[in-house]
Amino acid sequence: MRLFQKYFCAVAISLWAVTPSKAQLLVAPTLHIKAEMGSGRVALTLDACGGRTDTRILSALVENKIPATIFVTGIWLKHNAAAVEIMRAHPELFELENHGGRHVPAVDTPQRIYGIRSAGSPEAVLAEVESGAAALAVTGEPAPKWFRGATAEYSPSANAMIRKLGFKIAGFSINGDGGSLLGAKETARRIAAAKDGDVIIAHINQPTHAAGEGVVQGLLALKAKGLTFVRLDDADGVGDEGTTD
Ligand SMILES: [Zn+2]
Repeated sequence: MRLFQKYFCAVAISLWAVTPSKAQLLVAPTLHIKAEMGSGRVALTLDACGGRTDTRILSALVENKIPATIFVTGIWLKHNAAAVEIMRAHPELFELENHGGRHVPAVDTPQRIYGIRSAGSPEAVLAEVESGAAALAVTGEPAPKWFRGATAEYSPSANAMIRKLGFKIAGFSINGDGGSLLGAKETARRIAAAKDGDVIIAHINQPTHAAGEGVVQGLLALKAKGLTFVRLDDADGVGDEGTTD
């Protein structure tokens, strides 16, 4: 019943968010990592959609030795060489994964999601996923194994296509910063509330937003509580909607 409710909610939100004509039902998959004995562990995932680098977050991760999985786009990689260099200098902390080439939603019919125009065709979804992986290859990073599309919503057919390309799809269980639009206090509260097995999503590409300050506060609170952080490659992530199996 709970699963049904969750699915129904995801569908309802998606229906509401897209234009009504020809809109497909989209899925917003969740992801958890396996719970562990002890103080618990969480996976921090940070999206670098475009724009610049929030050095408040990047510095805090390095200084506090907090590992993170960073979902980067081709656009972001192009304009943030200094940040990429810092991440590559700390391979024990940062895992870089595929957030697409141009940050267009992996939805294979023409529609808008949160105002962003979808890829719009199977060919365009393929191009988005493959160009994201190609941009990462240029940096010398290991080949990505995870994909997260812009808006983190997918049409079921695009979902299946991405899985066929060999990528796991990275959902999440805690929306830490509401697309980087939340205030610092609410962001910190959401992240600090993470429990064993949670996968947090937030953004590392909005240095002028208050949310970034909240991301740092929330992470430090989790660390103080004794939770450990893992990257997606170091944990058994289990997603719904057939995103990881
Ligand atoms: Zn994004």
